[in-house]
Amino acid sequence: MFLKSIELFGFKSFPEKCKIDFQAGISAILGPNGCGKSNILDAIKWVLGEQSTRNLRAERMEDVIFNGTETLKPLNVAEVTLILSDVGSVLPVDMSEISIKRRLFRSGESDYFINNHPVKLKEIKELFYDTGIGKTAYSIMEQGKIDQILSNKPEDRRSIFEEAAGITKYKIKGLEAERKLEKTEDNMKQVENILIEVKRSYDSSKIQTEKTHVYRKLKNRMFESERDLHLLKLKSFLEKKNDKEEQLNKYTKLKNDLKTEIDNLNHLREKNLDVINAMESKLVRSQQSLYKLGMDINSKENHISLLEERYREVEKQVASAHAREKEIREKIDMLKKQREERNHALTDLFSRIKEIEKNIENFRKSIQHSEEEMRNNEVEI
Ligand code: ATP
Repeated sequence: MFLKSIELFGFKSFPEKCKIDFQAGISAILGPNGCGKSNILDAIKWVLGEQSTRNLRAERMEDVIFNGTETLKPLNVAEVTLILSDVGSVLPVDMSEISIKRRLFRSGESDYFINNHPVKLKEIKELFYDTGIGKTAYSIMEQGKIDQILSNKPEDRRSIFEEAAGITKYKIKGLEAERKLEKTEDNMKQVENILIEVKRSYDSSKIQTEKTHVYRKLKNRMFESERDLHLLKLKSFLEKKNDKEEQLNKYTKLKNDLKTEIDNLNHLREKNLDVINAMESKLVRSQQSLYKLGMDINSKENHISLLEERYREVEKQVASAHAREKEIREKIDMLKKQREERNHALTDLFSRIKEIEKNIENFRKSIQHSEEEMRNNEVEI
């Protein structure tokens, strides 16, 4: 089995898609400091499931996504694919080539794939147990790892030898078993606690049960009483129902009789329909003439009210004429009175004229007499 190629996109200093092919034998990556050689190793560790950001020389996991440069914008996703060849003899798979892919979005969403099928990280780890490949395995000898092998401390070398000896899988399984045992012990403790709790709740349930027993007895009695009550009610309902049924029969018969009567009446009505129609048209005509008469009455009434109005006016005129007549009469009476008074005065004047004329005659006679006397006197003289 050997690493055939690695594809990087958006991982650390690889903003563009980049594929590195390795040949069987020795391959070397050369470049100046800081050009991105260690980033390739980081990419291999990352795709194999490295979770420690420190081991990836980053602060947060999203720091492995290309962060942009002066000329390029940051990316939102990092993707690394590892292609391993001749895997059939080492890995439990029926194929010669296998691809492992890891993808991470800036939102934190992360996916793993084996041959482009989504898988869990655990499946990738299990695939590479005891193969020397893996994030902590000896196939990746980064800076400082050689020191670990050459270290005097046996515990530093131990993990590397264990991986090479193929006991990592059993060790991890053993660790898992220990973890499960611990979990089981925890569960046992929880069960014991639950048992204590159950005992406590059993005691309280026992009291509750006794209470429930009494409650049920009472409830049964109540049920029986209610049942008797319902039966009594049912009996009275049945009696009432019979009465109602009798009434219903009576009313049904009455209804049938009425229906027959209505049918007869309808029959008769149909028979008399012509007469009714003629009467109806007559009625319509009568209504029309009634309407006309009503109109006449209305106009007559209007005329009458007009005449009444005029009559009232004439009455007013007559009244004012009477008043005027009265005035004229009074005036005539007054004038008559004046005439009479004047006649009296005239009569008085006539009698006074007569008296004056008589006096004048007397004067004239006395003058004549005096003249005669004078003449006589003269004669005498
Ligand atoms: P050395 O020999 O010291 O290990 P190197 O050649 O292996 O150096 P790396 O350390 O792999 O280089 O790469 C470092 C480069 O990667 C730096 O220029 C750094 O700016 C760049 N880099 C790291 N992370 C990112 C990132 N998220 N986005 C963009 N560039 C990054």
